Amino acid sequence: MSTTPRQPIQLLSPSIVSLIAAGEVIERPATIVKELLENSLDADATEIQITLEDGGRQRIFVSDNGQGIPAEELELALQQHTTNKLRTTLDFEQLHSYGFRGEALFSIATMSKLTLRSRPQGQELGTEVTVNHGKFGQPAPIGMTPGTQVLVEQIFAKIPARRKFLKSALQERRSILDTVTRLAISVPEVGISVTEENKLLFSAPAEQTLAERLRYIFGEEFANQLWPFEYQTPGVSLMGVLGSPQLARRSQPYQFVIVNRRPVTSPVLITAVREAYGSSLEPKSAPAFVLFLQINPAEVDVNVHPRKETVQWQKESDVIHQVRTTLQNHLNVQYQPVESEPLVVRDSTSEAPFTPFVAKTLPQLHTTLKSSAPQWYQALASREQTILQIHDTYLLTETEQGLMIIDQHAAHERVLYQQFLELFHQQLGQKMTFELSPPKVIHLSPAASALLEEHLETFANIGCQIEPFGDQTFAVRTVPELLKEHNPQKVIESVLEDIQNDVALIGVDQLAHRTLAYLACRSAVKAGDPLTQDQAKVLLEKLQETSFAFSCPHGRPTIRTYTWGEIEKWFARK
Ligand code: ADP
Ligand code: MG
Repeated sequence: MSTTPRQPIQLLSPSIVSLIAAGEVIERPATIVKELLENSLDADATEIQITLEDGGRQRIFVSDNGQGIPAEELELALQQHTTNKLRTTLDFEQLHSYGFRGEALFSIATMSKLTLRSRPQGQELGTEVTVNHGKFGQPAPIGMTPGTQVLVEQIFAKIPARRKFLKSALQERRSILDTVTRLAISVPEVGISVTEENKLLFSAPAEQTLAERLRYIFGEEFANQLWPFEYQTPGVSLMGVLGSPQLARRSQPYQFVIVNRRPVTSPVLITAVREAYGSSLEPKSAPAFVLFLQINPAEVDVNVHPRKETVQWQKESDVIHQVRTTLQNHLNVQYQPVESEPLVVRDSTSEAPFTPFVAKTLPQLHTTLKSSAPQWYQALASREQTILQIHDTYLLTETEQGLMIIDQHAAHERVLYQQFLELFHQQLGQKMTFELSPPKVIHLSPAASALLEEHLETFANIGCQIEPFGDQTFAVRTVPELLKEHNPQKVIESVLEDIQNDVALIGVDQLAHRTLAYLACRSAVKAGDPLTQDQAKVLLEKLQETSFAFSCPHGRPTIRTYTWGEIEKWFARK
């Protein structure tokens, strides 16, 4: 993994120092872990062990097998603005390392008792030095394995104000594990473990692919619902996985954005991914995804945030646009199975300036990431299957993977939604609306009236011309062609009810989505409706043709598969 020859540590020039935003703020144990972990990664470590005490509130120990620090530079490493990662302004724009300020060790050593031990690769012995709340001890030789070990104790012992702000051990531990998880996903090739009181809290072996790592961290069931993608566009390369709509969450979604190897937060980017999913998700839920972006370092300002966790982009920027449209297309095209060809970073001959960097840092994605979507699709398309209806609610059939159970209502809803969506756009394009004559007068609750008043224009844009009459009364003049058979009062009321909670989000698309979802739900076969063999067959065929066959427009699952493996386990055949 070691590729670049190590540079000696030097003092940053004042001009560089002034380029650097506000100093490192070490505010809690997770920040310490993050800085130490990043240092190990910068030193090309392939194995990193973290040990905690009291959720990191008492003691943090990080040990790596990286390049190490020569004895004569050990004390330098602990001083302010000393780094071996950056020396010129030009370097600063080409930043490839995690660290560059030369401040983390210094800052940590001022607020704790820090022991730094290091043995460079190829040396016989290591050296140890302790800094006790800013006071340097004498360096001394020490026997150790090659690499670097940092022990941090008495955290904030002399800063009671900070100490007081520490959360419970449980919360600090969780925050540390969150930090470690984010970094571990960004470098699947590096082995990382976290131990506390001899209990292994986190472990991920070295040399994993992204797929293997995600499976390791989040488990089989989660990993089976991830769809890999990989694209090289001029200026940006993106790869990663998109979670099926069923992995979407209303709060604390699994979302990982990694820009040039660095886990970052970027609300604009997260929104772009969300938008790519369109109507397959409920308006307030957020998809699970891991997105690796590789762009020319000169084009991202990672320095905006003092801890380098935020990347700033404009909503209209090329990068954001690329992400949105690329992933949208990826999701729209019926997901294609990756059979034996592993998804690897293309050996691109394009002269994009960042290509070599891409090759070095993008983790390989592997075929072990399977999506069940195309598999059931293929299996069903290729075989004449008997479909069994049970409980007048579920359809049962066999695929190559196993036993598939379909919720007939949810499946039909998805199919109808898709059909309505196409029709709706067609009709909207041709400005086809249905005129109610005389206009239908409706009366709404005060809350619903207020909401409708605010969104009259949006309703008009989807073909509902509505005029307020005051006193919670409205005249509906036109409705979309699709809705002409339905009672406008009921449709409008239920759509308003549905959007009540996310008023801020309501635009034409959302409103159309809600309306069509309503329509699909009302028109779909219900649980309890008997279906003939032919009807069931048609339903499954149609389902195969829709994108996002896995969930109904409300985000509920439509299909579940029990694999043959699982079934064999039930009966102790394996
Ligand atoms: P920065 O990471 O910004 O350079 P730090 O204060 O985190 O600043 O570290 C200072 C220097 O100490 C680094 O530039 C590096 O040379 C050295 N160093 C710190 N941790 C390690 C490590 N685990 N392995 C090798 N060198 C390290
Ligand atoms: Mg650092």
